[in-house]
Amino acid sequence: MPSSNAGNSGRFAGLMYHEVGGMPARGPERRLSPHYVVETAAFEAQMAALHAARVRTLSLSEVLAGEVSGPATLVTFDDGLEGNLHNALPVLQRHAQRATVFVAVGFVGSEGHLDWEGLRALVAGGVEVHSHTWSHRPLQTLVDAEVRDELRRSRRDLEDGLGVPVFAASFPHGSFDARTVRIAAEEGYRLLCTSEARLNRAHAPGEGAGTGPMLVGRFAMTSSMTVRQFERLVAGQALAVLPVRSGQLARKTVKRLIGIQTYRRLYRLVFGIREPEHPVPHA
Ligand SMILES: [Zn+2]
Repeated sequence: MPSSNAGNSGRFAGLMYHEVGGMPARGPERRLSPHYVVETAAFEAQMAALHAARVRTLSLSEVLAGEVSGPATLVTFDDGLEGNLHNALPVLQRHAQRATVFVAVGFVGSEGHLDWEGLRALVAGGVEVHSHTWSHRPLQTLVDAEVRDELRRSRRDLEDGLGVPVFAASFPHGSFDARTVRIAAEEGYRLLCTSEARLNRAHAPGEGAGTGPMLVGRFAMTSSMTVRQFERLVAGQALAVLPVRSGQLARKTVKRLIGIQTYRRLYRLVFGIREPEHPVPHA
């Protein structure tokens, strides 16, 4: 079987979802593009495809421990949106799949976003919850103290509010560099999810020790992905989603050319995502 990740290669695709089913979050502060809303039926088909292909969904602890053998994938959701609980969780449970939700803690309880009760229901349903920072600003635009505060505060609030250990984060806007990774490591984070569209290779047991947090790339899951593309992706054929990848490379190049602040303004215009500089805390 060519190009399969069957066997013990330890390779896996990270999947980055945002919202499943229903309407996109439509708060005054923040709207999500329909592009990032996967229909519940499509999500169900994808989870069923994982089950049929015997692709195991990983916990973050397994990834960290290097316990990745045979076909495996990492299902994640960014932002902490309501459909994660109401639409995605029942599907995950029906197909016995594991998932991780990264919560932008400053938005908890705001329109379209889960409140603390909803997050606790996710945890009770077997979903891992970790940090997507507090205010969802691109970390590269912040000074050290702000980056530290974003990571520390979100972790503390999640651990206090949910009673779970928080050791992982995903970067808002995919914004990270060596500096932000270093600060995350100092704040106790051990696994960091990016938006880089690439396959991951799990550490062999013991291999990653002492090398800082593990960086995990993820493919953006959008409303336009076909089940065939999905099947190829989780089988380890990243080239099957080449359009996604080249789109990302193009965005990266644009970001470098125009600077991240301008990129952020453009991104908001194009994708309709608006964020306040100082979001109103809800918790
Ligand atoms: Zn986000």
